[in-house]
Amino acid sequence: MTDLTTLGIAAIRDGVRDGQFKAREVAEAFNAKVAGADALNAFLVKTPEHALAAADAADAARAAGETLKPLAGVPIGMKDLFATKGVATTAASKILEGFVPPYESTVSQNLWNAGAGMLGKLNLDQFAMGSSNETSAFGNVISPWRRPNDTAPLAPGGSSGGSSTAVSAGLAPGATGTDTGGSIRQPAAFTGISGIKPTYGRCSRWGTIAFASSLDQAGPMARDVRDCAIMLEAMAGFDAKDATSLKLDVPNWEAALSTDLKGKKVGVPKEYRVDGMPGEIEALWQQGIDWLRDAGAEIVEVSLPHTKYALPAYYIIAPAEASSNLARYDGVRYGLRDLPEGAGLQDMYAATRAAGFGDEVKRRILIGTYVLSAGFYDAYYTQAQKVRTLIARDFERAFGECDVLLTPTAPSAAFALGEKQADPLAMYLNDVFTVPASLAGLPAMSVPGGLDKDGLPLGLQIIGKPLDEQGVLNAGLAIEQRAGFTARPQAWW
Ligand code: GLN
Repeated sequence: MTDLTTLGIAAIRDGVRDGQFKAREVAEAFNAKVAGADALNAFLVKTPEHALAAADAADAARAAGETLKPLAGVPIGMKDLFATKGVATTAASKILEGFVPPYESTVSQNLWNAGAGMLGKLNLDQFAMGSSNETSAFGNVISPWRRPNDTAPLAPGGSSGGSSTAVSAGLAPGATGTDTGGSIRQPAAFTGISGIKPTYGRCSRWGTIAFASSLDQAGPMARDVRDCAIMLEAMAGFDAKDATSLKLDVPNWEAALSTDLKGKKVGVPKEYRVDGMPGEIEALWQQGIDWLRDAGAEIVEVSLPHTKYALPAYYIIAPAEASSNLARYDGVRYGLRDLPEGAGLQDMYAATRAAGFGDEVKRRILIGTYVLSAGFYDAYYTQAQKVRTLIARDFERAFGECDVLLTPTAPSAAFALGEKQADPLAMYLNDVFTVPASLAGLPAMSVPGGLDKDGLPLGLQIIGKPLDEQGVLNAGLAIEQRAGFTARPQAWW
């Protein structure tokens, strides 16, 4: 009998529907995998009973001859940034330790409504701030990947590193991620899986712990492009509880998947050829160009002249919004409260925040309050907002000449844990290719393209026009078919 944990979302859905196996068997198999993978530290909370209950509901529906829901029998992992009713939710921060939400986020509720079950809550960079998962207050996630003959632990990417690890290690067929500046795409690239950040506004932000509200978007991380399309359909949709939610129907992305790119133009932005980019990344990018040409697309060079200002603008805007969003953690309303003997209210605020936030979160709050303060606001925040507009215009202009853009996802393969921790700027540089699409609110996805000389995965990024997730998924699928990426990490955990 097949090991059910080798199956992806589409295969599980179809197998349950066709009666090849029971949803309960699937949930039991994944629960067992999760239980045996503590060494990876991917899960902050395990919820095997949630997965089993959803599976039993799917099996009962099938036995009763009902039409099954789109994700019936599919157990998934939930990034611990989504509030889940009755299940501890911490954003990997001590300041939320002990917080059990009395409500369910819209995205997670949408997934449960589609029949999915939850295997557990996934570790992440604290408040989704980071690119390696090392800012989690509950220990970093360790990538299931290793260099050959080398046991040095590698970063799973971040901030959705628990999600990338769970999917690539076969602990879950799919997982939710969130992406503010690359947190779905970069960890997907580091672990050899696929992930898509939809157009800003496609997925409701309600009940998702806020980092930078004008950038935050939820999206799926899964083994392949089809699985991402299926999961995104379930996650997306208008929600009156989020003022920035788009009032649009969710397209049937899976049904419209096609790898025929005839008549499509793929833009290659010349400014993404950054100095010091490893030869292997260049070569993979060229390979991606050849694959898309082979799929029928015409390749055009385009220019995004303000690309070099994207990273600095992002690292002003995101901390500015974060400093405001994180003001609510005061020791009164959620989680941790540090109340020194005889202390007043201000002391309690200060003590709680000093004890509860990690260093990276504090760094962002300090930067954010600085760039928003009187006297500096115009020099930093207003300037960054202007740059953001120019970046969005660059994309608009480029999309006059092409349908999608192709770039590398990250400037390197996974680095070792600890390697960039001491230097925040080196860490921020990892986001150089992912933040521009975030600032412009565009859909963007990472698909695995190949392996580097050490056998570690490398990802290719496709960026699309607003609302053109289909174009992104189709180009991703065209690459997936040609790349034939089947590498999986060897289990050592
Ligand atoms: N690595 C980026 C940061 O630290 C992006 C994080 C994210 O997308 N949540 O801000």
